Amino acid sequence: MPTAPTYYVRCSYFLSLAVDENGQPCQHMVKAATEAAVMSQISQHVQKSHKQDPKNLQNTIKFCIRKAGTKTYGTRAPGGHH
Ligand SMILES: [Zn+2]
Repeated sequence: MPTAPTYYVRCSYFLSLAVDENGQPCQHMVKAATEAAVMSQISQHVQKSHKQDPKNLQNTIKFCIRKAGTKTYGTRAPGGHH
C-alpha cells in the first residue's frame, strides 16, 4: 500500500528561541498530509505556546517543512538534484 507523503516540521527547526519550561528546545512536532495543514497547525502552536505571530514566521516555517515518507528507490525529488 502506497505511503502518502507526510509533511512535518519541528518547532525548534525555525524557532530557535522556543524553549519549554525546562529550558529545552521546544520539541513540538506537527505532521500532516499537506504543507498547508502543517502550516496551519504549527501556526496555532506558535501563537498559543510561544506568543509569536505566525504571520511573521510564514516564510521561515515554510522553508523548514520537511517531507517524509518519500523514500523512493532510484528517483530523486524534483529540484533535489545538483
Ligand atoms: Zn513550540
